[in-house]
Amino acid sequence: MLVVMQAHASEAEVRAVCEAIEHLGYHAHPIPGATRTAIGITGNPGAVDLGAIESMPGVVECIPVSKPYKLVSREIKAENTVIEIGEAQIGGPGIAVIAGPCAIESREQAMAIAKAVKAAGVKLFRGGAYKPRTSPYSFQGLGEEGLKILAEVRQAHGLGIVTEAVDNESLDLVEEYADVIQIGARNMQNFSLLKRAGKARKPVLLKRGMSATLDEFLMAAEYVMAEGNYHVILCERGVRTFADHTRNTLDLSVVPAVKRLSHLPILVDPSHGTGRRDKVIPLSRAAVAVGADGLLIEVHHQPDKALSDGMQSLPPEQFEQLMVEIRQIAKVIGRAANGQ
Ligand code: PEP
Ligand code: MN
Repeated sequence: MLVVMQAHASEAEVRAVCEAIEHLGYHAHPIPGATRTAIGITGNPGAVDLGAIESMPGVVECIPVSKPYKLVSREIKAENTVIEIGEAQIGGPGIAVIAGPCAIESREQAMAIAKAVKAAGVKLFRGGAYKPRTSPYSFQGLGEEGLKILAEVRQAHGLGIVTEAVDNESLDLVEEYADVIQIGARNMQNFSLLKRAGKARKPVLLKRGMSATLDEFLMAAEYVMAEGNYHVILCERGVRTFADHTRNTLDLSVVPAVKRLSHLPILVDPSHGTGRRDKVIPLSRAAVAVGADGLLIEVHHQPDKALSDGMQSLPPEQFEQLMVEIRQIAKVIGRAANGQ
């Protein structure tokens, strides 16, 4: 259910309605919009009797939300959610680019790549300190040491830090060190991790599971929002198909599908989405053209020596070229071409 407040409803009226909802044993989520505040109601197993609430001061109406996801839905908030991370913005008019290595391997590696992506105009740096690897014998990441290196990168280059948490323990540390908490494809339906991320005070970048439907993807975001963290950034990173010319099949059609159903921003990751360096620039152009709010790109100064995902990592010169090309596409579709 959704309680629609009048455009001029006062803060006190919104608060009173939230208190009345909580008093009935449900959770109230006031979501301010451009023209009015809507209050989402969760925690109700079935229909809610809101008779008394409908007649409270400032209330226009109580309406059922037709989708299984509530807080994620455009029904509760018509305008796009814009997430601010320091100087960067995701979901606004600009195309946000998050770039960096797959994994943090050493201080020197992280600094060299950060310098290069910063010079290309990027404001957000990525790099895994905890790596969910298919093989237990592959490089698992530097752990907290990697997070400390990321904090140094922020300090030295003024970049916002995006890094993955793989379980509840690593999430505690990631929340402390990072600016954005990434939840990877393999954890998209790790519900206890999603709930923990929902209690975090940092934005969450949620990657689509490799076999997740759109509804499952949005329901995963709902898990985070239902716990009170409304700063969720979605990310398409390719799904499993029979195709064997790429690592995954990048599902760009999910971008307009998400835009229609949800107010949350959506990024595209053509690095994991294709697994092949030569396909990253073409798919980046396409992602921007199709309406993505930004890109997640793996960059390595020595891709052939990378400890993970070297095949899909762009060397700095190619990344610079990517930035030039997506600025051009952004301009054509009327979006700010500042790279964010
Ligand atoms: C990553 O971004 O480094 C990563 C592991 O991605 P995914 O979860 O999409 O495989
Ligand atoms: Mn990777």
